[in-house]
Amino acid sequence: MINIKRSQKPKGKINYHDKDIRKKIHKDFYHLCYLCENEVFTSYEIDHFYTQKNSPDKINDWDNLFLICSDCNKIRPKKEINKKGKEVLNPCCDDVENLIQLRFIYNDNDINEPEKIEIKSINRNKKIKNTVILLNKIYNLENSFSKRDRFLFYDKINNRIQNFKNVLKQYFKIKENCRRKKNIGKKIIEFLRKDTIFKRVGRDDNSIAFISFKRQIIKDNPDYKEFEKCFD
Ligand SMILES: [Zn+2]
Repeated sequence: MINIKRSQKPKGKINYHDKDIRKKIHKDFYHLCYLCENEVFTSYEIDHFYTQKNSPDKINDWDNLFLICSDCNKIRPKKEINKKGKEVLNPCCDDVENLIQLRFIYNDNDINEPEKIEIKSINRNKKIKNTVILLNKIYNLENSFSKRDRFLFYDKINNRIQNFKNVLKQYFKIKENCRRKKNIGKKIIEFLRKDTIFKRVGRDDNSIAFISFKRQIIKDNPDYKEFEKCFD
């Protein structure tokens, strides 16, 4: 999950079906599903953080409209979410980037074969706990196997991660501070910044999808510390 800085509420009456409203939401969410961080350029839906059924007064509330992929929209439990005691973190208000950690756990026999996604938090309040449970459903699809092919999804995320790790490896292999190293460093920053998506739309290799995983790799290794300062 990534923090989202929502743009100012559009003037006038909002209708979430409106093309312009959807366009604005797309931009605010960097074209990413707010739950799984997959790109949603074409196949997307608008999610109501407080559900339409439980909060009919919030159906067209600007702060209640979130960009979601159709898979996550099926997995997210509509009936109970954000009811009292079931609240989850809101990436537009809560610092989800520092509260939730996402990592791949790899198979012991094959270091490139992802086995599951670990979702962790150092803080354990109720809201965070509920979010971890939800993200477990989203990524590890407990009880929801039919909704999305888990391993196909892992492959997609893992390809991006391996690609990112390869660029990191190239960077640290070069000892002297030459132009080539600088250029590779720039590429790493592109992988880590949310605004990259606007420059590279449609280009798989540098897209910012699954940015939380890549940033976690940087946070987990003190040798990579120099790249932490480029997080936006
Ligand atoms: Zn999703």
